[in-house]
Amino acid sequence: MKNIGLYLHIPFCKSKCPYCDFYSFSGKDTEKDAYTQVLKERILSSISTLQRKGDTLYIGGGTPSALGAENLQILVETCKSDFLTDDAEITVECNPHGLNEDFFKTLYNCGVNRISLGLQSAVDSERRTLGRLSARNQVEIAVKTAQKIGFENITLDVMLGIPNQTEKSLNETLNFCLSLGVPHISAYMLKLEENTFFYKNKHKYNFPDDDLTADLYLQMCETLESKGIIQYEISNFAKAGFESRHNLKYWHCEEYLGLGPSAHSFLDGKRFYYDRDFESFMNGNSPIQDGMGGDFTEYAMLNLRLVEGLNEEKVFERFGHNIPQEIYDKSQIFIDNGYMTKTENGIALTRKGFLISNSILAEIL
Ligand code: SF4
Repeated sequence: MKNIGLYLHIPFCKSKCPYCDFYSFSGKDTEKDAYTQVLKERILSSISTLQRKGDTLYIGGGTPSALGAENLQILVETCKSDFLTDDAEITVECNPHGLNEDFFKTLYNCGVNRISLGLQSAVDSERRTLGRLSARNQVEIAVKTAQKIGFENITLDVMLGIPNQTEKSLNETLNFCLSLGVPHISAYMLKLEENTFFYKNKHKYNFPDDDLTADLYLQMCETLESKGIIQYEISNFAKAGFESRHNLKYWHCEEYLGLGPSAHSFLDGKRFYYDRDFESFMNGNSPIQDGMGGDFTEYAMLNLRLVEGLNEEKVFERFGHNIPQEIYDKSQIFIDNGYMTKTENGIALTRKGFLISNSILAEIL
């Protein structure tokens, strides 16, 4: 049986960013310690019944670094004992605010080998608009400190569509990332999620329109690619060999277990998730069943997020049939207009296609 990925959700953040819809709250130190112990127990009971190994661990949130290095060490070591393979990719998301050498040393020594830092923008006025607590130079210090300790695999999150963002300000952000020599960048378009501060106050901000956001996206793809950071997914770019193994599991529609409030899982063909409720999780709630997953349509939708696209051989290996002719037929108009391309073994979206991927996927699938 194939190895799975393990995701741990840490629901603590010092403050709430105005665009964020992830499940998080500020949390007291006693809650963080108690959560670590409960999560540890949940990990142990889950892996004892799984009879599977994990080859990726992703600790996300929220702000995992808000848990503190010692608690993160407890979680990582729990997962390593008897569950993770020796070569597992172990990622921890960190907020650059207040991280020091000891923090990174503890993580490095317990086996964490990938750090994800939320930059969003290297322009301090944009960072303030996004509610980021640290200034750009604190991100720089955090990256350099992690690199000094030995972390080679560092990814920075960048955001597109920030109020007042321009091609010039995006360039400043990209040049900042490139100057730090990180091998991976995730770049997400700001989406106005209901219930966020930005959504409720959108009339007060000067958000870039769709045309400018599209220009920013294409500019970013070209700039990163010219420096050897190659796009491999709609929003992800990496030097060869530094693609996120954990996230590739999602896009390849492979199996993963998610633990923590709001964490989702896909195991044995079933999807399930934990409620967005800290107290319930602490009290031992069961996950909510979310039906079957992994059918051809879902598989195709996820794989078409990748630059490599949908591959005949892989489809045949998994489903015992080819990519249906109907999909090729429906794709033809997008191929003719430069939104999709026929690859050696299937079909893929082009960069221009990624900009309207939801509409294309709805049309062809
Ligand atoms: S730090 Fe991240 S998870 Fe926390 S509120 Fe901000 S964007 Fe959301």
